[in-house]
Amino acid sequence: MKKILAIAMVLVICLSFLPMTALATQSTDVKVILDGRALTFDVQPQTVGGRILIPLRAVFEALGAKVDWNNTTQTVTATKGDTVVVLTIGSTSPTINGQVQTIDQSGVTVNGRAFAPLRFVGEAFGGKVDWNDATRTVTITSGGGSAAGSAGIPSVLAPDKILTNGKFVTVDKSFSIAEAVAIKDGKIIAVGSAREIGALRGANTEVINMQGNTVLPGIIDNHMHFVSYVIGKPPYMLNLTYPNVQSIEDILQQIRDVLPSKAPGEWILGRGFNTDYYKDFTAGSKLTKQMLDAVAPNNPISFTDWSGHQVWANSKAIEISGVTKSTLDPPGCVIERDSAGEPSGIFQELSAMRMISDNVPPLSIDDIVRSLTANYMDFTKLGITSVATNEYQSTDRIRAIAQAYALGDFPIRTSVYLSWPDFDNVEGVKDALSRQGFPSGFGNDWLRLAGVKIFGDGIPPSQTAWTIDPYPDGSHGSLVVKGETEAERLATLREMIEIADSLGYQVHIHTTGDRAVLETARIFADVMEKNPWDARHTLIHGDFVPDEAMALMAKYGMGFSTQAAILNVLIDGMAAAFGDEAVQEQWPLRALLNAGVVMSNSSDTPVVSPDWRVGVYSAVMREGLQTGKVYGAHHKLTVEEAIRSYTIDSAWAIREDTIKGSIEPGKLADFCVLGKDILTADPKTIKEIPIIMTIVGGAVVFSDGSLK
Ligand SMILES: [Zn+2]
Repeated sequence: MKKILAIAMVLVICLSFLPMTALATQSTDVKVILDGRALTFDVQPQTVGGRILIPLRAVFEALGAKVDWNNTTQTVTATKGDTVVVLTIGSTSPTINGQVQTIDQSGVTVNGRAFAPLRFVGEAFGGKVDWNDATRTVTITSGGGSAAGSAGIPSVLAPDKILTNGKFVTVDKSFSIAEAVAIKDGKIIAVGSAREIGALRGANTEVINMQGNTVLPGIIDNHMHFVSYVIGKPPYMLNLTYPNVQSIEDILQQIRDVLPSKAPGEWILGRGFNTDYYKDFTAGSKLTKQMLDAVAPNNPISFTDWSGHQVWANSKAIEISGVTKSTLDPPGCVIERDSAGEPSGIFQELSAMRMISDNVPPLSIDDIVRSLTANYMDFTKLGITSVATNEYQSTDRIRAIAQAYALGDFPIRTSVYLSWPDFDNVEGVKDALSRQGFPSGFGNDWLRLAGVKIFGDGIPPSQTAWTIDPYPDGSHGSLVVKGETEAERLATLREMIEIADSLGYQVHIHTTGDRAVLETARIFADVMEKNPWDARHTLIHGDFVPDEAMALMAKYGMGFSTQAAILNVLIDGMAAAFGDEAVQEQWPLRALLNAGVVMSNSSDTPVVSPDWRVGVYSAVMREGLQTGKVYGAHHKLTVEEAIRSYTIDSAWAIREDTIKGSIEPGKLADFCVLGKDILTADPKTIKEIPIIMTIVGGAVVFSDGSLK
């Protein structure tokens, strides 16, 4: 039975800027108003030969029909009541209840989606179509009985979720601000005013009121070490970092707490101690094995300090290691001794540290998975929704990340940079990559293979960064890749980059000294000149950057990823060691932007905390942590620039800016909601701005409860 008094539904399609002579397929800005409500399509209407074609499913369903698509025959069947409409792509002879109709234009597919002539679809179920050439407006009046839900939007088109009444910092090209977004299938489908987005609400749309809070795109940390971070914390290791630990007594208490869960002989591991911050540790005193023996005599203990350059062990661990009074210090290393010459507990630098740490049973994949699931919230609570990780030691780490996803609900998108210990020589790179088969970008929106990470040089504080001018002791640092001479090492680096590039891998290179930065930029430029593709080879860290390197980065579209939070921690010490003058040009972020380089920020965690707010504050203020002194004020960023560096420009550096990094239709629905407006806050307070909610793929994965 037909309803006699069907309420007419009016579908108005306003076509603005319709090209007059469009011969090719192109998209056009189309505003669709449904009963006075803005309607969005997940693919835009198109003009083909000057005629308007619409995403077929959308309007058939708006008219109340059920739509089936047969991919083999490329046929759409729309059914409503007794009426069956069949339209085959490419055909100008659709049928209505078996009767062949003739239309003046066929349906087409654009990017795999079916489009059909507007007039035909509008009239197929008894709608009335009016076309006003002057205003270029199409009005479809349906015969009623549309599929619109109570709010007037067909449920198939309605968003799953609307976030409204927020200050959405979209980080689009013009850094525009919006009030609301609509989300469907984990992606953003519309961004606009609260009224515009509210009009899209369907019967089943969930609405979250952001209560005026500021919303950023989900934060993207494009250089860090995910597994190293999570295994440096419970359950695998005690968290000895400041401010979690503020005294020796705090450390001993952690041991007492964990001891009941340990069998005798089982290792107790920890990471991050730093006596500079301990109130019960006076200058001149030393860490000893006896301090640890007092609480854990029967379990070996190995604690690594914050810098990763020393290990603190107890007597049990030293006994297992076989190190005695008569063991010599390895070259360049120190085994601290007591007055009797016995090892006293501290082992400095790698070869000495390994005397202890090599005895620790290796982590199983399950251990790593447990660490990931136990600690991912550290990132999620900070509004970090995507990370790019460099897993140095083993494929087990990557397997563990994959397994964490297999468990379900792992809320951090991960892009992996392969970084094996033998990536310091040509054969190592060739061996690992030539049989790999999956190039950069392989994977999905959650887990993907991003590229290759290679260590170029060392770091400035230990004078291992490769520099143009000498350090005070006359040394220059060097590349850390294989080769007897400078020229050989450069040739090695070049060949490794060429191999990776030719196999389709984006290359990220650790470079800190100005010489390393310059030489790497020159090699990248050569490689990108000879084999042009969208590689975006990227320099990581870049403490000191010569002008020539900046120009090359801008010209060839190289990425640059640095860590403003490290500036905050390190720059006072650098100034003390090398002089205030020398550090004014360290991390020249303003100059990089001026040169036209896509400059991004990351954390390099666990080197420092993954907290991007510290990075934004530091990029904007350039203050040293200990002294509060400002270094290189002429390189300060604005808050807007700093936000870009942790969102869209960070996405660019990992070649994912088309799917994330800004709040725009079509992108992943990842958000970081702040309890205070970062754009108007005193920059000094940015690191204290609360993060009140994190949303990944449209799902709330963290909330402090302040938004209902
Ligand atoms: Zn790193």
